Amino acid sequence: MKYDYTPDAFDVRHLWHPYTSATHPLPTYKVVRAQGCTLTLDNGARLTDGMSSWWCAVHGYNHPVLNRAVEEQLSRMSHVMFGGITHDPAIELGRLLLGIVPPSMQRIFYADSGSVAVEVAMKMAVQYQYAKGSTRKSNFVTIRRGYHGDTWNAMSVCDPVTGMHSLFGSSLPVRHFVPSPESRFDGEWIPEDIRPLRDVVERHHDELAALILEPIVQGAGGMWFYHPQYLREAAALCRSHDMLLIFDEIATGFGRTGRLFAWEHAGVEPDIMCIGKALTGGYMTFSAVLTTDHVAETISDTYPGAFMHGPTFMGNPLACAVGRASVQLLLTSGWQENVRRMERQLATELAEARHLPQVADVRILGAIGVVETVDEVDMAWIQRRFVEEGVWVRPFGRLVYIMPPFIITAEELHRLTRAVVKVVGEMPVPSGRK
Ligand SMILES: *Cc1c(COP(=O)(O)O)cnc(C)c1O
Repeated sequence: MKYDYTPDAFDVRHLWHPYTSATHPLPTYKVVRAQGCTLTLDNGARLTDGMSSWWCAVHGYNHPVLNRAVEEQLSRMSHVMFGGITHDPAIELGRLLLGIVPPSMQRIFYADSGSVAVEVAMKMAVQYQYAKGSTRKSNFVTIRRGYHGDTWNAMSVCDPVTGMHSLFGSSLPVRHFVPSPESRFDGEWIPEDIRPLRDVVERHHDELAALILEPIVQGAGGMWFYHPQYLREAAALCRSHDMLLIFDEIATGFGRTGRLFAWEHAGVEPDIMCIGKALTGGYMTFSAVLTTDHVAETISDTYPGAFMHGPTFMGNPLACAVGRASVQLLLTSGWQENVRRMERQLATELAEARHLPQVADVRILGAIGVVETVDEVDMAWIQRRFVEEGVWVRPFGRLVYIMPPFIITAEELHRLTRAVVKVVGEMPVPSGRK
């Protein structure tokens, strides 16, 4: 179906969209309704959603259980401050979370968004080192190709190239970067992979508060799946050099990689863990930072006796209520079978793309399917082609990837994979490839 693109004049003139020009923006498509796995556009076109609205909408859209949770909470109270006050949605969500995160995670700090969770985690690590008297240990090391959000400190540990660090000059803190592991998730462990991290840690540990990374799946920085052994060796390095280990599970959490959380692939527990995105099933912005008793007690037993952070909307009851409903729904939804089914289907159906001259790599993990192209995609063209094929897929750079809601049917998923193979096959053939 041809999409007659009529840009909304107000939108084009006044509304800034993510990562696009304000004066010559990429086209936007107006969604008027979202239901299950389908986004409906203003011209009536129905698109099968391949993005889960950036990892969030694991149960699909307009879910009756989540709607009810919001409505019930709304009729009691939508918000109340968390300073000096507590409430059942916060307590009950916390109880649920403790049952599914690494056992050592015992303290929960609620925050507003993924980026803020990363800020909080980094502050926590620095304040922990301060409390231990290691005031020099205030910097961070991370691996390239990472993505941790767009606020200052979160951005400072994003991949320096795709994160455009050069733009921000001296206003961006300078971190230590090591190459991201080459060993594929499903391949052989290459022992040299850990060497760059070991070198940096041995040389700079007296100024390093923590190592921060996305376990197993690097998301928006490159959609790369790496070997679990890296996490085991990285954790050992942190332990022997008094550094904390921070796992950013904002994208990987809540079943997406085939485990509830990606740390389970390696059996390595972090000292601090960030979760967000699918935490509310995509209903609203919310996140949590979890840590051990040891970190919480160390911070709290030393001047100033408190962790120095407290967002206005901390523990927002509406977000907690829908988070609780979403986690509960996930745990009773047979997510594991759904993700396994999706993984099998993605592997079978995206395998076709391997033979295309436009394709450099195809990788699948859990409910994530990635087709890496040789050349960068033409965003405006490819987006329109996907819409014409009746699917919502939003690539970036050389990555065409899908991570649909877990409720997707085999038929809907087939529509997505077929569109990906077809549209990537229509891209210009890179020179030197037949
Ligand atoms: C999306 C994301 C963030 C940032 O979350 P926001 O809610 O967009 O601020 C941080 N880390 C990872 C791994 C993410 O995928």
